Amino acid sequence: MSINQSGWRPEMTAGTGTAAPTFTGNRALMLEEALIFEIGSTETTGVDFADRGEIGADNRLGGLFRESAIGLPGLAEPEAVRHYTRLSRQNYAIDLGLFPLGSCTMKHNPRLNEKMARLPGFADVHPLQPVDTVQGALAVINELAVWLIKLTGMHGVAMSPKAGAHGELCGILCIKAALEKRGEGHRKVVLVPESAHGTNPATAAFAGFKVEDIPATAEGRVDTAALKARLGPDVAAVMITNPNTCGLFERDLKEISDAVHAAGGYVYCDGANFNAIVGRVRPGDLGVDAMHINLHKTFSTPHGGGGPGSGPVVLSEALSPFGPLPFTARMADGHIQLIEEETAGDDHPDTFGRMVAFHGQMGMFTRALTYILSHGADGLRQVAEDAVLNANYVLRSLEGTLDAPFAGAGPCMHEAIFSDANLAEGFSTLDVAKGLIDEGFHPMTVYFPLVVHGAMLVEPTETESKAALDQFIGALRSVAERAKAGDASLKSAPHFAPRSRLDETLAARKPVLVWKDAPLAAAAE
Ligand SMILES: *Cc1c(COP(=O)(O)O)cnc(C)c1O
Repeated sequence: MSINQSGWRPEMTAGTGTAAPTFTGNRALMLEEALIFEIGSTETTGVDFADRGEIGADNRLGGLFRESAIGLPGLAEPEAVRHYTRLSRQNYAIDLGLFPLGSCTMKHNPRLNEKMARLPGFADVHPLQPVDTVQGALAVINELAVWLIKLTGMHGVAMSPKAGAHGELCGILCIKAALEKRGEGHRKVVLVPESAHGTNPATAAFAGFKVEDIPATAEGRVDTAALKARLGPDVAAVMITNPNTCGLFERDLKEISDAVHAAGGYVYCDGANFNAIVGRVRPGDLGVDAMHINLHKTFSTPHGGGGPGSGPVVLSEALSPFGPLPFTARMADGHIQLIEEETAGDDHPDTFGRMVAFHGQMGMFTRALTYILSHGADGLRQVAEDAVLNANYVLRSLEGTLDAPFAGAGPCMHEAIFSDANLAEGFSTLDVAKGLIDEGFHPMTVYFPLVVHGAMLVEPTETESKAALDQFIGALRSVAERAKAGDASLKSAPHFAPRSRLDETLAARKPVLVWKDAPLAAAAE
């Protein structure tokens, strides 16, 4: 195999673009890059290690020398830097353009948040430092907690869960603990409407519950009558996503909560879509017992490849005693106490325990609090209003081009949903998504939610200007028109991406997860 310095090999193909192939495979600033296993070698390293013989008896390894090569690819420092920089240029990112992934709330991360999170007093603290030395950081956690409680109208909050799905697990474990305390551990069924996010049934099953589906109405909302009819002494909880994954507000939530409570169950609300209602609706007023908030969605902290998530869970008065440790509490003298196993004493006998080693994602807390304080009450309300306005602009601009199954149900919330109903025979949602890549956009969420055939779920968020929305709408309309007209070139899109269309079935059925041809694998044996 011949490999040049940049890892280019003659057999590499750089997409199927119309430009003539180049010697390097590069196309101007779009640089080809091989796998690190193809370009690295065990003979090369950026570090100048002493020979084993030279270390001799002075080594501090207690004789635990490695006996054989481990086959890791080595590169000199500039090669390593170029490798990862080249790969990073193939990323799509919110800092590059509109990221319309429905349900994911990919919005701009304000640079002010980043500046605050990088202050050494927040960025460089260690979770095992004595609490007296990290009072400022604890104050951030505590103040954010107070804000989340206020914004949701709830009683308490568990700050430590590290993502939305982790928060769901936290809420469901609170419910489980509450039921067991009541002597009703036999309630084993969690009802999940079809319009809920996929993590909801996964969470309930993971926590040991039996999941039962509740159908959606033709309007895309939970079938309240069917849900009420299923309530009974075996039902532990209902998990309901609001706004739901069809981008619609579950108007009956209060009625549902009242019925669930009357039947002895609890209401878990998936609040990942809180962006659509923040400052406008307080879930506590709707009878919710537990709800996670994705700081990495509503409160603009980076996510996807850009940063860790954070999924605090707000809790009702009934569930708060069961929440996990640790949590913060401001004492009468203004000092912030970290309530842990050692400091809780007999005060929190009902806590279900701990979810994480330490206190949660400090950087995300700092960013989220910065976002809340810099927006203020009026700004946060406007976030929700503008997010909904932008989604409705997308919906109304495209409903004449793409089938929009719930457009007749009135305005949508933060996301607009389309189906594949009026594409030409043989053309699918996937073709539209791949065509959008050629137009320079990350595709929208596809084939989710399952209640819509060939779903395309577009969430523009409030941080896009009208000009940006118009460009996206124009691109999606153009691709959709091609799919409706049966333009065969769309079937092999993308044509201009670093890689053309992959065989996704083969990749799913027969994934090749190990680089077998690596010269290094042989070295390791
Ligand atoms: C994003 C999302 C989740 C999961 O959140 P993660 O942080 O990815 O675990 C759950 N429910 C809904 C509705 C979401 O949009």
